[in-house]
Order: sequence, then C-alpha cells, then structure tokens
Amino acid sequence: MKPDDHRAAEAWLRERRHDIAPLARRQRLIAALLGVLVVLQAWVLARIIDQAAFAGAGLNALAPLLVAWVPLLLLRGGLAWTGDRLAWRAAQQVRSQLRRELFDHLRRSGPYPLRERPTGELGNVLVDAVEAIGPYFAHYLPARLLMTLVPPLILLAVWPADWLSGLILLLTAPLVPLFMALIGQAAQRASQRQWRQLSRMGGHFLDVLRHLPLLKAFNASRRETARIAQTAEAFRRRTMQVLRLAFLSSAVLEFLAAISIALVAVLVGFRLLDGEMAFFHGLFVLLLAPEFYLPLRRYGAQNHARMEAIAAAEQILEVLALPAAAPAATSSQVALRHGALELRDLHFTHPGGDTALAGLDLRIEPGEHLAIVGPSGAGKSTLLLLLLGFIPPESGEIRLAGAPLEAAHLAAWRRRIGWVPQRPHLFPGTLRENIALGCPDAPTETVREAAQAAGILDFIEALPEGFETPIGEGGRGLSGGQRQRIALARALLHRPDWLLLDEPTAHLDPDSERAFVAALRNLRGRVGIVHVAHRLETLHEADRIVVMQGGRVTDSGDWQTLCSRPGPFRDLLEAPA
Ligand code: ADP
Repeated sequence: MKPDDHRAAEAWLRERRHDIAPLARRQRLIAALLGVLVVLQAWVLARIIDQAAFAGAGLNALAPLLVAWVPLLLLRGGLAWTGDRLAWRAAQQVRSQLRRELFDHLRRSGPYPLRERPTGELGNVLVDAVEAIGPYFAHYLPARLLMTLVPPLILLAVWPADWLSGLILLLTAPLVPLFMALIGQAAQRASQRQWRQLSRMGGHFLDVLRHLPLLKAFNASRRETARIAQTAEAFRRRTMQVLRLAFLSSAVLEFLAAISIALVAVLVGFRLLDGEMAFFHGLFVLLLAPEFYLPLRRYGAQNHARMEAIAAAEQILEVLALPAAAPAATSSQVALRHGALELRDLHFTHPGGDTALAGLDLRIEPGEHLAIVGPSGAGKSTLLLLLLGFIPPESGEIRLAGAPLEAAHLAAWRRRIGWVPQRPHLFPGTLRENIALGCPDAPTETVREAAQAAGILDFIEALPEGFETPIGEGGRGLSGGQRQRIALARALLHRPDWLLLDEPTAHLDPDSERAFVAALRNLRGRVGIVHVAHRLETLHEADRIVVMQGGRVTDSGDWQTLCSRPGPFRDLLEAPA
C-alpha cells in the first residue's frame, strides 16, 4: 500500500465527519466544559485541603467548598458519560451511512467489476472493515478532541500558579505526538498487513466452504485444513504484532507521563521545603499534572484505532473505486417504447483482456427468436453483459424502437428484459419466492402464469406443498432442468419484451433440454429472445441464427439456409465438439 493511499484513506475518514456534524459540535462543547471542570475541581479540592491542613478550618468553614465540589464531581461524570454516548452514536451513524453507500455502490457497479474479487473478501469489507471504522469515531476522535482542548486549558490554569511546572508540562507534552509519529509508520504497516491477511483469510475460507464436496472428492480436504491452519496462524502472528506495538506504545506513554509527573512533583516538593511556594499552589499543580497527561495518554492508546480504521478505509475505498455502470438514480418510470432492438457498431475491450466486440451490428425484431452462435471467445457473453447493462459500450450504440438506450434508462430497460444465465442461482426459500424474486408482491395468478409459460407448472402443482415447497440453497432437491425452468419462470414473471438466454441448456441432459426448448417454443412471437447457444441442436427453433466471430457478425440466416451453404456456420457444425 502506497503512502498516498494511506493519506487518501485518512483524508476520506476525516471527510466522514461531515456526516455527523451536529453530533460533533455537541462533542466539542462537552470536551471544553470537561476541561473547565477539571481545573475547577482541582482548584476546589486544593482549597479544601489547604484550608483544612494549614488554616485549621472546621467543617462549617469548609461546607460551601464541599458543597461546590460534589456537584462538580457529578457533573464531570455526567458529561463524560454523555460524551461517550454521543461518540457511540456518531460511530453508529457513520457505519450505517457507510454500509448504505457501499451497498448502493455495489448495486450500481453490477457484477462485472466484482468478477475478480472473491466474495469472502467483499463480505469482509462490508462487515469487518466497516465495523473497524467505528472505534475511530467512538474512541479515537473523542480522545483527540480532549487532547486538543483539555491540556491547553490546564496549562493556562497552571502557568499563573507556577510557571516552572507549566514549562515542564509544556516541554514534555510534545513528546507524546513525537513518539506516536515515530512508531506510527511501523504500527501502520502492521495494521495494513493484518487487514490484508484477514481479507485473504475470509475469501479463502468461504471458497473452501463452498467447494467442500469437490475437495472431499479429490481427497484434498486434509491439505486445505492444513492451509487454513497456516493462514490462521499467520493472522495470529500479525495480530500479535499489532497488539505488541499497541501495548508497547501505551507502556512507553505511561512511562513518559509518570516521569514528567514525578519531575513536576519533585520540583514542587523542593520549593515547598524551601518555602518558595505556597502549599495551595503546589497542591493545585500536583492535582492537575496527572489530568494534563491523561488525555495525551488516552490519545496515544487510541492511536491504534486510527491505524486500524485507516487500513480498513483503504479497503473500503478500493471497493468504492470500482467503476459504477449506472448513474446513481435511474428511474424505472422512464417510458421506453416497444420496438426493434438495434446494436450499432458496438466496440468493447475488457480491461487487460482482448477485444471482445469489434464493430458488432445487429437488429432484432420484437418477438423474434434470435440465436447467437460462435466459437469460444467470439464475444457472445460480452454482448449479453452489454445488453444487461452491466458494462457500457466503448463506442457504438444500442437503440430501442429507434431511440438510443441510455444509461439513465437502465432501470426501465431492466424491467423490459428477463435473463436466464447458464447456472441460475436459487435462494433458500419457497418456489414461489424464487420465481417472484423480481416482484415479491406478484399475485399468485401471475406467478402461476409465469410457471406455466416456463413449462414447470405441472411439476410444481404435483408437489404436496405446491408453490410453497421450500427449496435449499442453490436449489437443492431439484434437477438441473427444473432449476433452469424455474429460472425461466422467474425471468418471465414481469412479462418482459426481451428474454436474454446465456447457454441455458449447456449443462442439461437431453430430456431436460427438450423440455426447456419446448417452453421456449411456446413463447414464440410473444417475447423477443436473444439466445446465446452452445448446443447447435437447440437452434432449429430459432427464427434466425447469427454467427459471431472476433467480436462481429460473420453470417446470419435460418437453420436451413445456413446448413445449405458453406460458411462459418457449417464450419461450426462440422467442427469436432
Ligand atoms: P464468448 O462468450 O463468445 O466465449 P466472451 O465474450 O466471453 O466470448 O469473450 C470475448 C473476448 O473477451 C475473449 O477474447 C476473452 O478472452 C475476453 N474476455 C472475456 N471476459 C473477459 C474478462 N472478464 N476479462 C478480460 N477479458 C475477457
């Protein structure tokens, strides 16, 4: 991690204080009041002891001072408690706001920029990193506030009473920030390493859990357990490094504070012995000396909260820096006209990858069943990513019914399309909930219609619990073909104009494939289908087949035409599988 990133992360953390500006104002007021109270309390206590010890004052004479001292004590406790509560609230507010922003950003980014980040790592950022920001606002900032307000107030009070002690306080105070700066670099590096390790560990652990059957089947579970143990051990060592630095720095700070207080005490003691100083002033200074160092020590002790927060902020910033595909507010209320879908001269190159689309031109009529075929790497999946709005075209445009489809139309466009990926994910829940994923409030009749259109209604109604049948994570208990047709029902639920299919039968057995293709046949004319197909046998149904190669269309026609003449399609048909 570069120092620039580190500075940017800290600047970003400081920016977050705008989110809690009203709370911060109250915190500043409380800190200033606390400073004044500390001085007043020491003054009253020194006066009480001085009067009792040297002026022989009785309880009666001391009564007003005692009466003043007790409320001061209570008030100080009350203010400190209120300050803590405000700090917690501030931390809570920042965390909630941040989680909202992160989710919003991820939603807008879509899955494309996330493809190379392990899910576990992302989960770690959303949960742990955001959590680690909390102590910065709950502990570190309040400690810093007290450090900037209380010691100067104490210094102002001590100086007139005894300038020499004031001078010692003044000269020793900068030792704390100096020391913090000295160990800061090392502590920062240790925190960053600890965070990276935690992220990696989270990602790895989730991966292993997900693919446990695979690891078992290959007898690799023992080896993976050993690797997890190694990662955990490395993380333990990193954590210990961080803790060692944190403890070491607080021990050194305590030591510095103790020496400085002792110095003040010795000098006060000598001058009291020599009669150069009044007892009241000496006691007043001695009572305030520990109070002077207390905020400095606390600040030092909380510095690791800052280090951790910066390390966590760097990770959060990495996620927030992922490009967002869609503008912040896209409304699904935009009225899109129904008509032909035109792709004009589309270009796209994956970052760090090859050119995926190189001037693709294609026109798809409403209700047309279009199949797209081509060798691997031809750009078919990239085209689907574009149509789904997960990536914007580099150049060229997509037009719907003659009008350009813009980023601002994305939400409305998504209401017009249904998508069936290669391996759709079914969530734990009922069949009904899975079909109604896009519109949870859809009436039963609509869910039934969608199931019927997808050719899965008979199967569902034959189940004892029908649509309310619970299914496990990933659709456990259902065959591949059933899962795929449930995904088709899900895609059809909001009656889309266009259905985007990404090799939906690639993993199906011939029977399931036939059932799926039959469901598609029944949709003929009702919905436009863009079907990226791998299995050429499924293409008889298509109205038109286009062949893609090198990111552009190289041939097009119906099954009969394409089969009857030599060309890229025949080459594909005849190529060994
Ligand atoms: P198809 O679906 O026809 O196999 P793709 O659209 O997946 O083709 O790929 C088109 C080209 O883009 C290929 O050269 C591939 O290497 C590249 N590509 C695809 N996805 C990525 C990605 N996520 N990152 C980098 N390059 C990619």
